[in-house]
Amino acid sequence: MTDLLDVKALKKSFGKIDVLCDVSFSVPAGSVTVIIGPSGSGKTTVLRSLNALDPADSGSIRIGDVSVDFATPVSEADLRLLRAQSGMVFQSHNLFPHKTVLQNIIEGPVIVQKRPKDEAIADAHTLLAQVGLEAKADQYPFQLSGGQQQRVGIARALALRPKLMLFDEPTSALDPELVGEVLAVIRSLAAQGWTMVIVTHEIRFAQQVADQVLFIEDGIVLERGTPEEVLVNPTEPRTRQFLQRIMG
Ligand code: ADP
Ligand code: MG
Repeated sequence: MTDLLDVKALKKSFGKIDVLCDVSFSVPAGSVTVIIGPSGSGKTTVLRSLNALDPADSGSIRIGDVSVDFATPVSEADLRLLRAQSGMVFQSHNLFPHKTVLQNIIEGPVIVQKRPKDEAIADAHTLLAQVGLEAKADQYPFQLSGGQQQRVGIARALALRPKLMLFDEPTSALDPELVGEVLAVIRSLAAQGWTMVIVTHEIRFAQQVADQVLFIEDGIVLERGTPEEVLVNPTEPRTRQFLQRIMG
C-alpha cells in the first residue's frame, strides 16, 4: 500500500520549549493511525502542523502529491495548499451559532472553494445522512446535543473533500453518554476507507479502529506498532505507565 502521508523529522518549538523534537511517521492510504500520549506531549501540535495551522520549524510533510519542506521559509500559498489536503475536527466543534447546520456545512465549499451552491447543498445532505443527521439540516447548533454538534463538525470537515481526516480528541469534551455516537461515525468513515489520524484517549476504540498506534511523549514518538503491540503488549515502560493511568 502506498503512503498517503509522510512526516519526516518534524521539529517545532514555542519560545524555549521544544514541543516536537523529531517526529517521523507514515500513514498508508486508507488506514487509521491513532496517536496517544500524556497531556502536553505534543499531540495537538502534530495535528496542527499537518493541517498547516502551526507551521513546523523544520522537517517535511507530504500529503498525497503535496510536499512542504520546512527547512526553508514556506510561502503562504504553499501552506494554504497543504492545509487544503486535510480536514480537521477539534475537541469542540466551533460551529457558527447563527447559521443552520446546512449553512455551516456549505460555508467552506461555497465561500472558500467557490463550488456551486446547489452542488454544495446536495453534498451536505449526503454528508448529513452519513452522520445520521439528515433531519437536522435546518436547525441551529444550540438545538443539537453536543454529540450531534460534533457529528456536524465531522460533516463540515468532510464537505471540503480532504484526502486526510484529522481528529483531535473528538469526544473528550462530550458527556459520556454521547461519546459512542461520535465514535460510531468515525468507525464508519474507517470502514469506508478514509485515511485518518486520530488523537484519542478512548483505548478500546483505538484497538478496534487503528491500523497503527503511536505513543508520543515529550515531542518524541516513543513507541509505534499495531494496536496489539502498543496497547496490549507495550515494550516501553512509559507506554505501560500511561495506559495504566488512563485505564485506571
Ligand atoms: P497535547 O495535545 O499532547 O496535550 P500540545 O501539542 O497541545 O500537547 O502542547 C505541547 C506543548 O506545547 C505544551 O507544553 C503546550 O503548553 C505547548 N504549546 C502548545 N501550543 C503552544 C503555543 N501556541 N504557544 C506556546 N506553547 C504552546
Ligand atoms: Mg491536545
